Formats: sequence, C-alpha cells, structure tokens
Amino acid sequence: MRKIVLGALLCLAAPATAELIGGCQFDRDTLTFAGSPVEQATCLLRKVELMGRKSPQPLPPVIARLMEQGGAPSAAQKAAAIAVLPEPYRDYAIGYQDLPASQTDVGLPLLYFVIHDTSEPFFGTDKFPRHLNQDPKVNSFDYYLAAEPVAHIFLNRQGQIWAAHDFSVPWRATKLESRVVGPAARGRFVHIETVQPRRFLSGATNRGQTYGPKPGFTPAQYKMLAALYVYASARAGHWLIPAFHSTVDDLIPDAHDDPQNFDLKRFGKELDTLVSVDKAGT
Ligand SMILES: [Zn+2]
Repeated sequence: MRKIVLGALLCLAAPATAELIGGCQFDRDTLTFAGSPVEQATCLLRKVELMGRKSPQPLPPVIARLMEQGGAPSAAQKAAAIAVLPEPYRDYAIGYQDLPASQTDVGLPLLYFVIHDTSEPFFGTDKFPRHLNQDPKVNSFDYYLAAEPVAHIFLNRQGQIWAAHDFSVPWRATKLESRVVGPAARGRFVHIETVQPRRFLSGATNRGQTYGPKPGFTPAQYKMLAALYVYASARAGHWLIPAFHSTVDDLIPDAHDDPQNFDLKRFGKELDTLVSVDKAGT
C-alpha cells in the first residue's frame, strides 16, 4: 500500500522536478534509465519509425538473456568478436583490448551502447544511388572527418570501420548528453555511427523530414555491430545495454530520428552467433 501511494506521488512530482529525463526516464543523478536492464533495453530498443515515432518490439531472446543474467563476455566470446572485425581495425582492437572502457567523472562505468545511423550522405530530392552498398560516395568516411568526430565508431555499408575515438574516451553524441545532462554524462555511453543515406520525404522542406533506404543496413553492418557490441562490453567488463539514438533522446525537443529501418532481429541473430561460441565449446 505504502509503495502504491509513493508511486503515485512520484508520478505527480516527476514533471515538476524534472529529475527523470525523456521517454525512458533517465535519472541525472544515477545516470541510468528507469527499470531493470531488461526493461531499459526494451524501452531503448523500441523500433524507430519515420519522423522518430517509436513502436514497441520484442527483445531478441539473446539480448533478453544477457540483460537478465548479467556478467561479462567470456574470453572465447571476446576472441570471436575480435576475429570478426576487419583490418586495420582488428589490429587496433587487439592492441587496446586490455585498456578499460570509459567511465564518468564520478567513476560510473560505461553502460550504454548507442546505435545510430549517419543520415549521410544526404541526397535531398535526388534518388539514392542504384548500388548503394558499393557506392564510393555513400561509403566514404570523408563526411565524418572533423576536429572532433561525433561518435566513437563509424561503420560503412561494406563493414569497414573507422575508430574516431577509442572506447576509453568519454564522449557524447546525443542531446541527452550534450544539451540536458552535460559533461557529467560523458563516459556512460559509447556511440556507433552506422552509414545510411537519407533523402527528403515527398514535400519535405527540412532535414527533420527524411527517409532512408530499405533495407536500412547491410548484413556486414549487423555483423560488425554485434562484434563491436561484444568487444565494447568486454572492455567495459559487463554486458552493455544496447540502445538507439532516437530512444535515448525520446521526448527531448529536436531529437534525431535514427536509426531508421533497423532490423533488431537481424542484430540479435548476429549477436547470438558470437555469444554461442561458449556453448559450442570453442
Ligand atoms: Zn544519431
């Protein structure tokens, strides 16, 4: 009974105190979304639809299992993930494998693995190239070169990886981190930018009204995302909670709508393959 009353009070108080941020209720003190790891992943992996609408979808069993059981990737799982990574990134990943992943200023460990789509290159009203996955313009990393690249990792449609920041570097790539919580959140999230071009929706006048190709990503991208997830989790010493940019920033004004057309089942399938190396006894 007492619990119910307290719950009701918290509900009433939440908008006024604004301690919990966004649709998945990020607590700015604990730097954690609301609920158990399974509940957090369920909220953070809702399907991102056109214009950033969200719809519920089931967690792939492998993700539900990892969130429930906790723990960390085994040595075999980590090795399997590294073996999948392409050169030259694989050598880099091996070189940095024992360096702990980022933590926040107050010592909270890395916890969230955030999947983005680049929404670049942007084709405006032009058609997408016919051979999207082989197109040099689409797959170039040149768009993302900057004094301060926006994410840790850039992953193109051919599965090539450019590491802009190591996973040990506290960084930010969402409005939740950069506009709402600020530097205190740095180190809690790592960010993977996955290349997917965009063009205007019919009649659109601004970059908030765009769509991506279908399928949204290539098999190589799902495979690498799974490998990066296992590798980053191994560096963190625990299974990270996977998330999407748009769900992290849910209900924050001007939030981005990425990743579009993300096939969560496909990601789960690739992850299952890597996680299953333990069962296979290899
Ligand atoms: Zn993004």
